[in-house]
Amino acid sequence: MGFPKHIYRKANSILADRRQKAEDLGEQQKQEIYAAIPELRQIEQQLAETGRGVIAAVAARSGDVRQIVESLKQRSLALQERRRSLLEEAGVPEDYLQPPYTCQKCHDQGYVNNYRCSCMEKLLRQLATQELGGAGLENFSFHNFSLEYYSEVPNENGTIPRSYMANLKNYCQDYARCFDPKKSGSLLFVGGTGLGKTHLSLAIAREVIDKGYGVIYASVQNLMARLEEERFNSGYGSTDEEAELRYLSMVMETDLLILDDLGTEYLNQFISSTIYNLVNTRLLRNKATIISTNLLPGEIGKRYSDRLVSRLFGSYKTVNFIGKDIRIQKGLMG
Ligand SMILES: [Zn+2]
Repeated sequence: MGFPKHIYRKANSILADRRQKAEDLGEQQKQEIYAAIPELRQIEQQLAETGRGVIAAVAARSGDVRQIVESLKQRSLALQERRRSLLEEAGVPEDYLQPPYTCQKCHDQGYVNNYRCSCMEKLLRQLATQELGGAGLENFSFHNFSLEYYSEVPNENGTIPRSYMANLKNYCQDYARCFDPKKSGSLLFVGGTGLGKTHLSLAIAREVIDKGYGVIYASVQNLMARLEEERFNSGYGSTDEEAELRYLSMVMETDLLILDDLGTEYLNQFISSTIYNLVNTRLLRNKATIISTNLLPGEIGKRYSDRLVSRLFGSYKTVNFIGKDIRIQKGLMG
């Protein structure tokens, strides 16, 4: 599934590191115990010999292969038994001669029979989540999205904010739960500050990451600063490797891109065309994007090009947030 490539690279290098440490430590423990009980070293050599004997017997195809193999097997079992009792006498746990791998299932390879091991899955999710760490992902879930800040009194349109927002929360939760990188549509979260847009986008991010998909979350302002820097400092990568590592291509490719606070960025020619390119390219590639903004639809129309406005209102589903600024209410309440 779709984690950015640099996340796989990081995961593989962490696993390689774990493996190396476990093997070094295993070797060290083995040498210590062989020094204390020299017979264990002989047993290991004899076990290796019986193994080679089995291979040789099978390869030679002469004599009674079955009988030879059977007797070697018996010898091997006897040697293992002797090793067990030596270790037991010395009060050393039996696995002391094995490298202490973090994962016993895959021995820190990350794969078992060509399938990704659960430890690898876990690591990928952790890395992807860490990357969003700046956003304080762990503080935002559907579970702690509180409806108590939304009034139960109908507004001028007769809408009850609390029930409306309860539905909206359910909608977002379903969106996250059913997230499919090829099918999920793009959303435009519209509404004033402090109405829960960031909270719900991060709750979606968290759940989509848990499903094993790649998510990039950034405020439009920070993302644009980073892309501008990348463009002016490093230019465009010449090798595939460099190109792949470019943040722009990661942002284009990620399964779910969440852009917070459209409208707060400083606009110039590069930024307007980059925003349009991102939105347009991801739509063409059927990739889901969630954009949130405090701007009213009319203000979006004034600030951005017609082609961007037509993509946002034509191809994104607009989700309106209503209520009173939660941050202010929290300030008043506590
Ligand atoms: Zn594993």
